[in-house]
This record gives sequence, C-alpha cells and structure tokens, in this order.
Amino acid sequence: MPGVPVFRFAPSPNGYLHLGHARSALINARMARETGGRLLLRIENIDATRCRPNYEAAIYEDLAWLGLDWEQPVRRQSEHMDAYRAALERLEAMGLVYASFESRAEIRAEVAARPGWPSDPDGAPLFPFARGAIGEAGHRAGRAAGGFPSLSDSRPPALRLDMAQAVARAGVGLGWREWGATEPVTADPGAWGDVVLARKETPTSYHLSVVVDDALQGVTHVVRGTDLKAATSVHRLLQRLLGLPEPLYRHHALVLDAEGRKLSKSIGSESLRELRARGASAAEVRAMALG
Ligand code: GLU
Repeated sequence: MPGVPVFRFAPSPNGYLHLGHARSALINARMARETGGRLLLRIENIDATRCRPNYEAAIYEDLAWLGLDWEQPVRRQSEHMDAYRAALERLEAMGLVYASFESRAEIRAEVAARPGWPSDPDGAPLFPFARGAIGEAGHRAGRAAGGFPSLSDSRPPALRLDMAQAVARAGVGLGWREWGATEPVTADPGAWGDVVLARKETPTSYHLSVVVDDALQGVTHVVRGTDLKAATSVHRLLQRLLGLPEPLYRHHALVLDAEGRKLSKSIGSESLRELRARGASAAEVRAMALG
C-alpha cells in the first residue's frame, strides 16, 4: 500500500520497559491511528551480552497490557545479521571502513593524555587515534615482539567509519525534517567521530542496524525520544551513503523522574510491571506516560 505511513517502536530487550518506553510506544500508536498508518514492533537485540529472552517476553506482555497492537511478524534484529553485513560491505567497498585494534584501556589512556579532547553528543570521548594508527600488520608485529602488553590474540578489532571521508563522500546539504518544524535540521555527523560499525562479538551496531531496518521495513516516520535526536545525524549520513530513503523524524520529550533525570534501569526507575504490581491500571499508566 504505497503512501501509507509506517511507524515503528524499537525497544531493546535489555531490561524491563518503563514509562519512557511507554511514551514512545503510545505516541507511535497514536500517530499511526491518526494518520491511518501501520505500527511495527522491532526487537533491537543485537547485543547478545545484554539482551535476554525474558525481557523480550516482557515487552510483548507489557505492550499488550497497555492496549497496544502491532503487526506480525515482529522483526528481531538478531535474525538479520546478513542484512547488516551486506550494508557494512557496501561501506567497506567505498573505502569508508577501517579496522581499529586499540583496546578500550588504550583509548582511555590516550584520551586522558589529551586534556580538552572532545566528546560525542552522548558524552563519550571521540576515538582519539588516526585510521591505521595500529594497523593489523603493526598489531601482529607488536605482538610478535612481545609489545602491546594489553593486546591479546582474542581481542577483536572494531570496524569504524572513517567519518571525515564519509562526510566528504556524502556531500553537502545533509539534514532531516523534524515533525512539526518548519526548518530542516542540519546533520552534524562529524560530532560523533569515527563511530564503531561492527565488532567481532556484535557484528553490527545500533547505527547501522537501525538504518538498514528502517529502510527494509519501509518505515516512513521515526518517532523516538529526544535522547536519540543527535544520533539522527549519523543515521542520515548512513542513509545517504547507502542510498536509503529519508524518513520523517519526531523526537519527543523524555519522561523524567522527580529529580529531572531520564528514566533508566541503572537509576532504579520503576518498570511498567512494577507499576502494574502496585495496582496501577493500564489507563493510569497510559496517562502517566503521556502526561
Ligand atoms: N533500540 C533503541 C532503544 O531502545 C531505540 C532505537 C530507535 O528508536 O531508533 O533505545
């Protein structure tokens, strides 16, 4: 059905859903209803070290309890690694991907030695080494010479996007349309530095899989929390490089706790199931999430 808006809610099953997730899911559902669109659910479970089947089961249960309905089958990212690999290979063929062998400890030490070194919009220091600083040959030679004591044979390289080259290749005028705004938002992917696109243990990344899936699923409207707005710059860059369509974006305000903090498991935010166990009705939780 060409022309029908397609929305998606894309949680990661690495914890129980909280009111922030409920807000995203409910806004997506409402917009789909109001535009005669479709609502997809996507399980973003590429990180096998953090995602758990019980959290995925809880997502289905909690969303159904909230009164939501979504199309089947649900796309589970762990089942589509071939699609992400194909996209990565296209970027590699353009010469925009390189292997970096530096460990997290080496990156931390390098950043510590450079006072004032910039951070990305999420607050993580930019990758401080140049492309090929420790190439594979240097990595092997260093090991053979007994050097690089923090390196081990089992340490996989990360595949990174050469951001400067990627931005140059993408050309000018990169931006996106934000729902309700009159002016386009200018993308600034360079603010993220040489982002990781894949690692051995997780052969894709959030940025890569989200743009591949949004395109494959025909998503026309990406509606998510404002904490992901800055990442849209990277998503637009990848979309342009890979020749993927540009969705319309809406980044909604986050649900904050009494101290003004973004909800998260790490600060002990109450989950939807805890609210339910305390006797909150689905209608009350819907009102709290949208309030
Ligand atoms: N999986 C991401 C999250 O749970 C959301 C991805 C997106 O909406 O683009 O934060």
